[in-house]
Amino acid sequence: MRAESGTDSTFATVFYEFDGCDDDVTVLQPSFQEMTVATCYAGRSVPVMHDPRPLTGEPLALDLVDTVWVDDTGDRQDLFTDRDLRSAWLARWGLPNTAGRAAASHLAEARDAIRGVLERRGDPAAAAALDAVLARGRLRLSFAGDKLEETLEAPAAWQPAWRAARDLGRLLSQRPDRVKRCANPDCVLWFEDTTRSNTRRWCSMTGGCGSRLKARRHAASARRG
Ligand SMILES: [Zn+2]
Repeated sequence: MRAESGTDSTFATVFYEFDGCDDDVTVLQPSFQEMTVATCYAGRSVPVMHDPRPLTGEPLALDLVDTVWVDDTGDRQDLFTDRDLRSAWLARWGLPNTAGRAAASHLAEARDAIRGVLERRGDPAAAAALDAVLARGRLRLSFAGDKLEETLEAPAAWQPAWRAARDLGRLLSQRPDRVKRCANPDCVLWFEDTTRSNTRRWCSMTGGCGSRLKARRHAASARRG
């Protein structure tokens, strides 16, 4: 394994190379506490950066939508306004990280289109916006050995957007009733409900909307009592 470090204003930037993906990789840097710099995600080694979002870990299409959130003060936040965080997000998903404004705007277009379909299911205009993203790529199928392989043919700058759009199609065709928006009307986060009972309502119960609502209800009943 080789690791080099540099810094920028917000966090350590670590360039790394290592063979396996068995363990997290931790380095000690002069100006930082001991920190984990890479972890294993879907079999790949990816850099770890502080992800400020309240909800992570959703499937690709929803994780893209969840790069926009409303913070505790009611302000809308966008992970992608920070180019390094956008790069880290792409790396986490193993997606091409093409420099330049075009790739960023394609990703933003896909994000808007996915949100549109989620919020207005069945609306032809929302579907058309998603189709416009999907039209930027096509899948080539081929046999490799005895396996069918899918190869995406799309410009690198469109690949992240295309893959996210396709992932939404997969989610909505496989588990449409499991794709939900947080029940807090002020919250814009989406998640896949993987509970056995299909009763999840909140983006988060710990420190998120669920706990805030509980706190408000508690305060209201205390006032009444
Ligand atoms: Zn929420």
